[in-house]
Amino acid sequence: MSLANGRHYLAIPGPSVMPDRVLAAMHRAAPNIYEGALVDMMPALIDDLKAVAKTDGNVAIYIANGHGAWEAALANTHDRGDRVLVLATGRFAHGWAEQAERLGLKCDIVDFGRSSDIDMARVAEALATDKAHSYKSVLVTHVDTSTSIRNDVAGVREVLNAARHPALLMVDCIASLACDRFQMDAWGVDVMVAASQKGLMTPPGVSFVYFNAKGDAARDAIQHVSGYWDWRPRTRPQDFYQYFAGTAPTHHLYGLREALDMIAEEGLEAIFARHEKLARAVWAAVDAWSREGPMQLNVADPAKRSCAVTSVRLKGNLGGDLRGWVTQKAGVTLGIGLGMSEEGRSSDEHFRIAHMGHVNSHMVLGTLGAIEAGLTALDIPHGTGALDAAAKVCATA
Ligand SMILES: *Cc1c(COP(=O)(O)O)cnc(C)c1O
Repeated sequence: MSLANGRHYLAIPGPSVMPDRVLAAMHRAAPNIYEGALVDMMPALIDDLKAVAKTDGNVAIYIANGHGAWEAALANTHDRGDRVLVLATGRFAHGWAEQAERLGLKCDIVDFGRSSDIDMARVAEALATDKAHSYKSVLVTHVDTSTSIRNDVAGVREVLNAARHPALLMVDCIASLACDRFQMDAWGVDVMVAASQKGLMTPPGVSFVYFNAKGDAARDAIQHVSGYWDWRPRTRPQDFYQYFAGTAPTHHLYGLREALDMIAEEGLEAIFARHEKLARAVWAAVDAWSREGPMQLNVADPAKRSCAVTSVRLKGNLGGDLRGWVTQKAGVTLGIGLGMSEEGRSSDEHFRIAHMGHVNSHMVLGTLGAIEAGLTALDIPHGTGALDAAAKVCATA
């Protein structure tokens, strides 16, 4: 039999759970795109997007997923043939690098593997070899969603400054924005990309490129700026359509408006604290399971783990079995082991638990309970006390 009937829970690291308030805000007739509420709400929407990233800079909105924002960020700052330094701690950094190569850029990748964060000494070394300052930018994923490693973005800025290297610091915050602490201006980030469907709790399909004055100067210095990706009209529109280079993503904007209201109501600090607490509940459970049997957290040091997603190893390729069981029998879908094989492909040796966005204790404890049931049903050896440990973390909230 199956106990999966009831509300299904998608515990994958994007798309994340959409709050009923966001869904309800989108459920409306097509709005007027020439004047009225939709047009009028743009300035405050832009301000609130900047507040989430803690920046006084600019933000351009794209009707695209995160891959679109990756391309937009590069298309506004680089010419064909430009060199880029990529600091890789998982599949997503490699994905951004592949896209850069397709745009004709030359990428040097420093790979820190799939379980360690960026080693600043190696970054300093890579910059020291670039005496001619040929690297136009350094690409970093704040949180790599495949490995669940969280990188020290401010630390990369310090290394750039210490080396007196002029490269742009470009950061992928698609998984981390509004989940893990991030401060664009204070951390010296020049360009940042984000997307709607993770911490921002809105359906996939809208993404964001943030940039400061230095990023904008790079746009002015390149030879050719793609007409569609150009961030200038999108951030200084004369007419409403220029925000989007065409028709607005009308319903996404209403959903996003509601999500930003929810973020403002809870407050960013409270949101970060909630994510951290729920992440710790997940880690406490996995630690307990790991005391016996084949389970293991992918990132050993808690200080290097994301609060938005946790990648877990289940040796013997049992991750796929466990995911299948909890989906079919318990109504919870877990994330696949993305990019965790030697070749960078998906692997059943790993699975991921998302805890990003609109998530609370009962959702996390329910997911952990479903995993515990799955481990038992599949005869996968595991330590005891996981649910107790997770509940204790939630009890002290
Ligand atoms: C989800 C994600 C992406 C890709 O976003 P898409 O919307 O799927 O294109 C890129 N980088 C990170 C860190 C992500 O979490």
